[in-house]
Formats: sequence, C-alpha cells, structure tokens
Amino acid sequence: MIHVTDLTKSYGAIQALRGVSFDIADGEIVGLLGPNGAGKTTIIKILTGYLQPDGGEVQVNGLDVMEHTRDVQAQIGYLPETAPLYPELSVQAYLQMMADLRQIPEAERRARLSDAVYATGLSEHLTRPIGELSKGFRQRVGLAQAILHRPKLLILDEPTVGLDPTQIVEVRRLIRRLAEHSTVLFSTHILSEVEALCDRAIILINGQVKADARLSELAATPDMVLVLDAEPAEAVAALGALDGAREVAAFRSPEGFPAYRVAGQPDAAADLGLALYNLAREHDWPVRELRRDVQTLETVFNTLATTA
Ligand code: ATP
Repeated sequence: MIHVTDLTKSYGAIQALRGVSFDIADGEIVGLLGPNGAGKTTIIKILTGYLQPDGGEVQVNGLDVMEHTRDVQAQIGYLPETAPLYPELSVQAYLQMMADLRQIPEAERRARLSDAVYATGLSEHLTRPIGELSKGFRQRVGLAQAILHRPKLLILDEPTVGLDPTQIVEVRRLIRRLAEHSTVLFSTHILSEVEALCDRAIILINGQVKADARLSELAATPDMVLVLDAEPAEAVAALGALDGAREVAAFRSPEGFPAYRVAGQPDAAADLGLALYNLAREHDWPVRELRRDVQTLETVFNTLATTA
C-alpha cells in the first residue's frame, strides 16, 4: 500500500529526512514512532501529497504521489495533527461540506455520512457546533471526515495528542475499529500508543529509520532468565561455563527467589535455553521459571535514541 524509498527533505539548513525507506502492506496498522522533531509530520505531509520531497520515491497503492497527487489523495483519509475544523459549523454541516469537497456522489452521500457518523459515535452530537465539543469529540469529527470517502489508507498524525486518558482509550478503540477496513499509518511519540494499537513500529530518529520491526522482535534479547527455589553454590560457575553463555548475573526475583540472568551470544539464544534446561536437570535444581529475557520498549527506544 505504501512504498517509500530513500526519501530526503530539508527545510533550509535543517535536514528533516535523511534517506527514509519503508514499506507498508495492505491491511497493516503501523505506528510511526519518534521523538519531537524526528520527521514524522514531514513524512506524513509528503505521503499525503502536501509537501514535495527533495529526493526519493513515494508510492501509494502503486501510484507515484508526486505524479498522481489527486488520485492518491482520493484514496487517503488524512487526519492532520490539528484537523482544520470550523468551530461555528455544526458537526452535520461540517461533514456535509467535507462530502462536497470530496465530491461524493449525491446518491451515495446519505449512506457515507451515516456510516462515518456511526463509526465515530457522533450520532447524538450532529447538531452541536464543533467549537462546543470536547477535544475527544472534535478528534472524532476529524476522524469522521477522514473516512467519509471510504479510503483504503488512513494516515493519522498524532491522533491522540492533547486528549485525556479516557478520550485516548476511546479514540484508540475507534482507530482499531477503522483499521478493520483500511490500512492505517499513524504517528506518535508515545510508545504505549504503538503497543496499544499495532504490532509493528517504524522508529524514526533524527530523520532516519532506526528500527522497523514487530514489537516482539524489538523487545527480544538473546538472554535467558532462570529462577530457582534454592541457591546452589555452583550455579553461577556452571551457568557461565555453558556453551553460548557470555556472562551471568545473579539477582533476586521480585518474589525474592534466587535468579540468574544469563547473557547469550546474539545467534545462540535458542540453544542457550535448551542448555540451561539440561543443566538444571543434571544438577536437579528446583526450577521455578526459565524464560527469555525481554527489554521494555522504553529501553529499546532510549538505546536507539542515544545512539542516533
Ligand atoms: P513533532 O512530534 O514535534 O510533531 P515530527 O517528528 O513530526 O515532530 P517534523 O515536524 O517533521 O517532526 O519536523 C522535522 C524537523 O524539521 C524538525 O527539526 C522541525 O523543526 C523541522 N521543520 C518542520 N517543518 C518545518 C518548516 N516548515 N520550516 C522549517 N523547519 C521545519
């Protein structure tokens, strides 16, 4: 659905994008994650045809965005960081105006409007001026206009920014529902947002893609954790002598049991787990837990950010 290759963009002396490439397949929901100033909005504006890149290639559904801007825009539902809503218009009048702008045929208009209103839970607010709505409901109006024309691709720029926790949960639920029918790319600087909404993240730092992977892959490490019921004197030495073990650190589990983190060689994680299991059996150690160690996404993100 989206194919981006070697995208570059500068604003004067500021290099906002430094060779960004990624692909997003049909039906995926992907988070574009990065700190402030990483280049997320710049990518989104280029993808939606509102900004020309300096170099690189951008295709949406097989169409070059620069060559076929109108056709591409017709296929995209776009929620900008601050949706251009008209506070004095009622929700209904605004959505009708957007249906006009989108040139939705008269015959289909009623159905499209009512689908969008139903999907975003706005039915009881149609006659209220947008300016009187809470931020969460204004965001729903923004989403409703983005899906009026039943786009194949939804691009959402920081969709939950400025919302309170209850509104965030509601808007996330709504996005998940919309993703059942469209491919979704959304930007955020909040890690938990990516965790809550999708399983793949493109991490952008300083105008470069620093990681593009499933969240479980990002969090995986080659290390194992073994928790025992007793504290055998020989444990640290025996674990350290295993094939594939790099380093052993003894600690206490949160429940107070003796635990060992065995750092593995990056390519030997699977074997290390088996080796640990066999070692524990040989020594008849009372095993409470044997698991792959995972790092929190915060740690992953901070590591990537500091090595930028
Ligand atoms: P945020 O999370 O704060 O919205 P972002 O990841 O969306 O940030 P961009 O808005 O794409 O980042 O900005 C990337 C870089 O380009 C930043 O250094 C920003 O200051 C700069 N920039 C963006 N727009 C302009 C502009 N119109 N003129 C000059 N510099 C700009």
